[in-house]
Amino acid sequence: MTSAPLAVDLAAIAQNYRNYRAAVPVTVIPVVKADAYGHGAIDIARSLAALDPAQRPPMLAVADAAEAAALRGVGVELPLICWLHAPDVDWQAIREIPDLHLGASSLHELALIADAAPQTAGRVDRDRAASVHLKLDTGLGRNGVRECEWRVLMAQAMRLERAGRVRIAGIMSHVSGTSADDDLAQLAAFSRGVTLALDAGLRPYYVHIAATTSGVVYEQFTSLNDQWVRHDEGGEYRPNLAVRLGLALYGLDPLHPDRLGIDLTPALTLRAEVEGFEDYWVMELGQVDGLPTRAPGLELIDDNGNHWQLGRIGSTHTTLQPVSGGPLREITCIGKGSASADDWADAAGTINYEITTRLMARLRSRDFEAPLSATPDALKTLAPRRELCIDLDLMAARLLGGTSALRAGEPARPVSDRHLSRWLDISADAYGFGAQRIAALGREFGKELVARTRHDVAWLAARGIEARYEPTAGRDTRIAYGFQGRIAASLRSELVQVKRVAAGQAVSYGYTWRAGRATTLGLVPLGYSDAIPRCVGGHAKLLVGGVQVPIVGRVAMDQVVVDLGDANCVPGMPVVCWGGTDGISIDRWCSWSGQSPAAVTATLGARVLRRYQRVDGGQDA
Ligand SMILES: *Cc1c(COP(=O)(O)O)cnc(C)c1O
Repeated sequence: MTSAPLAVDLAAIAQNYRNYRAAVPVTVIPVVKADAYGHGAIDIARSLAALDPAQRPPMLAVADAAEAAALRGVGVELPLICWLHAPDVDWQAIREIPDLHLGASSLHELALIADAAPQTAGRVDRDRAASVHLKLDTGLGRNGVRECEWRVLMAQAMRLERAGRVRIAGIMSHVSGTSADDDLAQLAAFSRGVTLALDAGLRPYYVHIAATTSGVVYEQFTSLNDQWVRHDEGGEYRPNLAVRLGLALYGLDPLHPDRLGIDLTPALTLRAEVEGFEDYWVMELGQVDGLPTRAPGLELIDDNGNHWQLGRIGSTHTTLQPVSGGPLREITCIGKGSASADDWADAAGTINYEITTRLMARLRSRDFEAPLSATPDALKTLAPRRELCIDLDLMAARLLGGTSALRAGEPARPVSDRHLSRWLDISADAYGFGAQRIAALGREFGKELVARTRHDVAWLAARGIEARYEPTAGRDTRIAYGFQGRIAASLRSELVQVKRVAAGQAVSYGYTWRAGRATTLGLVPLGYSDAIPRCVGGHAKLLVGGVQVPIVGRVAMDQVVVDLGDANCVPGMPVVCWGGTDGISIDRWCSWSGQSPAAVTATLGARVLRRYQRVDGGQDA
């Protein structure tokens, strides 16, 4: 196998977009957040932007401003919208991104955006006012303004629009998909909100609540326009209803095993090289690549039509047992003719969304060609805080044979080199720690760099890092990371929104959790695309202000909600997921997620910034 493991069919994505669009009578906005659900946002955005004008989408959606800036940075000129913001972000810098629409999820956020209004010669420049979409919480309990504040919100938005500080370009919300009744109740609430906006004098260009499912399942979601027609002095006003199209764009059906009834072609194919031994076979893909921790009973089918039963999914390799026939050199792991993302999701007990979204960007062919396609680190400061803080001193001490952390200014002292490997394993982008920096550290200490799969060796070589293929590199070659003891990193974030809710408030998709009493909910900008596997929803905890608080409701792609109880918390407050001297131990986290520690760090998504810390040099990110 000479190409990269993961291939994406861009023509299929364009066709899925066209097919979906033909099925709904409203505007369709493709969602390419979370690296296009693991498919590669840059290539997909470019190919959608290159469609002829009659076909081209009017706008693309991403979750945060760093994702938007990355698309602008590679020349994508379509209007963009994002809705997940850090509280203390540099709003001026965000305002510099041309044609970026901003969701506003609270009165405070609206005020911050308005405060950053561009000025020319000391006066607000109306022509450059931010395009804002007011995000209403109609029941999902995540971000969005609570209904009790809508009247004030609309009045305030109107005032700011009159002052030329913002332009209210949209009203938006998001549904939970719990049941038809619940979704229609959200639509009814949304209607009340839009009516309040119109009554306040706002005339948003877009009005959007539907995602893939609700856009086609409920006719009501796409036939509301007449109700919102207004006859103004300047002429008739009629908003553009829109659907934010995520999953179906990639050819997957959110209703699986039921069907939307739209012709969709899955766009992603994941292939793996296979090594045969006496009576078993191993495939060069594992948990560190984003495969689930287990998928009992799943069968893959090779190019000759023979079936292979999936065995143990290890860190970097997965065993296969023949059901019919052999020999085997490579196999389709996900894709046509073998197991689909739906088959994987069924076997692993999750949803197709999570299967593709967690596949790592480094598996894609694009990464082999382009020197670097990830979001430049500087742009990540435009996003809410999601950081892997890496303790290089602890790693250095371990490479020397020391086992304890260093005190400030004290040189590392070797303890014993008896168990010390001459190798440093930098597979899987140095298990998520960042191969560039960790390879340099390894060289500094005279280590030979090794990687456990051929696709890792090729990926490293494309980045100018020479590593020897060493499939059996043992634990001792990974001591520096601390997978067996104290992990040499911690995962940190922040609260981006805090809101008080009444008893009975439901949270996230499927309404699997409801507040038993009045409480305070916090929104943390880490989802299964970033760091938090979907399976930990309902039982894992995060550390907020030094206190352990439970994740409540389902883990979403970009965010989770924590129940803060009656604690006095504010947006911007630090959140520690695991690691460090203060966080929950990685072992405890692994007991919740079922992953190995190496898989936890290796599968941190592309939106997580790697920050390197050294005692002497401070941070050298
Ligand atoms: C992810 C997301 C979508 C897309 O949802 P699909 O079910 O994939 O279509 C739409 N809106 C918001 C706010 C989202 O976060």
